[in-house]
Amino acid sequence: MISLKDLNKEILSKWGETTDTLLFIIKNDMSIVDFSANFKIHSQKFTNIYELVTYTHRNKFTSQLNQCIKEKSVVSFSTNFSYDNTDVEDIPNTFDITMQFLQDDEIIIIAEVVCPLSHDSAKEYFSIINTYSAISRKLQKSEYVLDKKNVQLKDINKELEHLANYDCLTNMYNRRRIFEELDKEYSRFQRLETIFSIAMIDIDHFKNINDSYGHQGGDIVLQTLSENLKSMCREYDSIGRFGGEEFLLILPGTNLEDAKSLLNRMLEKIANTEIELHENKKINITFSAGVSQITPKDTTDTIVASADEQLYQAKETGRNRVC
Ligand code: GH3
Ligand code: MG
Ligand code: MG
Repeated sequence: MISLKDLNKEILSKWGETTDTLLFIIKNDMSIVDFSANFKIHSQKFTNIYELVTYTHRNKFTSQLNQCIKEKSVVSFSTNFSYDNTDVEDIPNTFDITMQFLQDDEIIIIAEVVCPLSHDSAKEYFSIINTYSAISRKLQKSEYVLDKKNVQLKDINKELEHLANYDCLTNMYNRRRIFEELDKEYSRFQRLETIFSIAMIDIDHFKNINDSYGHQGGDIVLQTLSENLKSMCREYDSIGRFGGEEFLLILPGTNLEDAKSLLNRMLEKIANTEIELHENKKINITFSAGVSQITPKDTTDTIVASADEQLYQAKETGRNRVC
């Protein structure tokens, strides 16, 4: 009569031809007594099944085996086998393990591969995944650097745009931009017949201020006047530095009378403002202004010329006034 052990031997020798599932017969001490044909290529290397189990699964493997021996029963669990436990990059295969206690202190182990990939394919698969994640990390880093550069570029563009449109001393529109605003307002006037007025403002005797208090003193005067004028403009008014100490104000929807009245209020305010040039030196300044309202005959050039003429008039008739 064939013994169970002999029967197992027959199974073990045929097993590897038809399946990847490994079969082992081991002793209590985990030494491998016999194995299925598909383990033959590894059999030189492993004489004890314990060496095949990855480090992280060894405690579990031992406790399951002890239970199997103690209870002489069948136990099932999952574990990982590695064919090279010394290589940290080796990819272990996961096996569903069934242990059956036989006679003579022998245990039969059925180890079914859970991972659908072969050992080499799994290795290749993980190597591709590693390469892919390295590339994707690099890409993320490049995107981050690019985002940062774009933010910097946006800031630079903002700064450039500011420089192209604003006067750096007074932070008012510069000559180019205020003329652009005048063109826009003139187009609106042609399209919608919405009236507007402009004012040319020129500080009185500014040369004397420079001569008496230096260029720096003159600059403080320019800045103070600018702040005062801006603070009295409505949201949709535009004001720009036309030249050295001359300013151009555009007042949409404002007729000549209202424009003059606003300019007079501005004049009153600046005349009453003490400007501190340096410690213990405060001065008051005045300006002269020429105002003009757009007419159907006007172009942008003629309305500016007309405001300029009015300004000349204001200077001629004693300064510190609006004409
Ligand atoms: P008026 O009452 O007739 O306008 O006399 P004014 O002295 O104001 O006019 P003028 O055109 O003779 O002098 C203008 C001065 O403005 C001369 C110039 O040196 C000075 N100026 C022009 N730009 C600046 C600037 O950015 N800063 C300073 N501090 N002075 C400037
Ligand atoms: Mg001038
Ligand atoms: Mg002047």
